Amino acid sequence: MRQPETLATGRSDAGYPLVELSHVDKHYDKLHVLKDINLTVNKGEVLVVVGPSGSGKSTMCRTINRLETIDSGVIRVDGKPLPQEGKELANLRAEVGMVFQSFNLFANKTILENVTLAPIKVRHMDKKEAEDLAMDLLDRVGVASQAGKMPSQLSGGQQQRVAIARALAMRPKVMLFDEPTSALDPEMVNEVLDVMVELAHEGMTMICVTHEMGFARKAADRIVFMADGRILESGTPDEFFDHPKTDRAKDFLSKIL
Ligand code: ADP
Ligand code: MG
Repeated sequence: MRQPETLATGRSDAGYPLVELSHVDKHYDKLHVLKDINLTVNKGEVLVVVGPSGSGKSTMCRTINRLETIDSGVIRVDGKPLPQEGKELANLRAEVGMVFQSFNLFANKTILENVTLAPIKVRHMDKKEAEDLAMDLLDRVGVASQAGKMPSQLSGGQQQRVAIARALAMRPKVMLFDEPTSALDPEMVNEVLDVMVELAHEGMTMICVTHEMGFARKAADRIVFMADGRILESGTPDEFFDHPKTDRAKDFLSKIL
């Protein structure tokens, strides 16, 4: 029997900068939303980004796969500055998987089709190969039995796990998660977090915006705290949760813990 493919490469070649943001600034019109962001995420690292609503967490994520442009600074993925457009941009999007709060599955396609679509279109995989890969991934996230159904027939937690499988099908170098459990009913949060923890253990490079502090403590190598468009703190989970340095972080933690 064919071995299921692993979700990510191992940590053996961990340690080199996979995502680098250097002096990144961005405005929405007059609103200065990212202020001199400097951040490096190494291969195999799990970074959790926390901070109050409106602090620029989503915007920062969206700049990394170029869903948003930046005003100044440089963003590199795997050593290469972000391309502006065209085929290179499509390739970048394939390398940077993204999972959003709203699952964004294609409503008129089956679960299997949702996962095979991009590998066939962008990676030019043949249909059988894409379907085998998709079934492996759906199995890994625990929804293989739902492959023939339409998204609306699945629970929110199942849909979000399909969204993760769909992103993984492109063999991304890094996965971005922007509050992937915020829209879920509470009883479904853990089934999604469990998949994320497994991915982390397998060595996937991950940037996760989340309010799930249990997950952050358990899975994060590093926590970044953002407020008002700036990174105010960066440290291990123990450093951040037990010894926050700034008043903003102390205030934030007092409200959520
Ligand atoms: P967070 O994810 O931390 O809640 P966001 O990155 O979504 O923060 O938003 C940061 C700030 O930018 C907020 O003040 C938000 O209202 C504003 N903002 C976000 N997206 C847009 C947009 N497309 N146009 C204008 N302002 C935006
Ligand atoms: Mg957000």
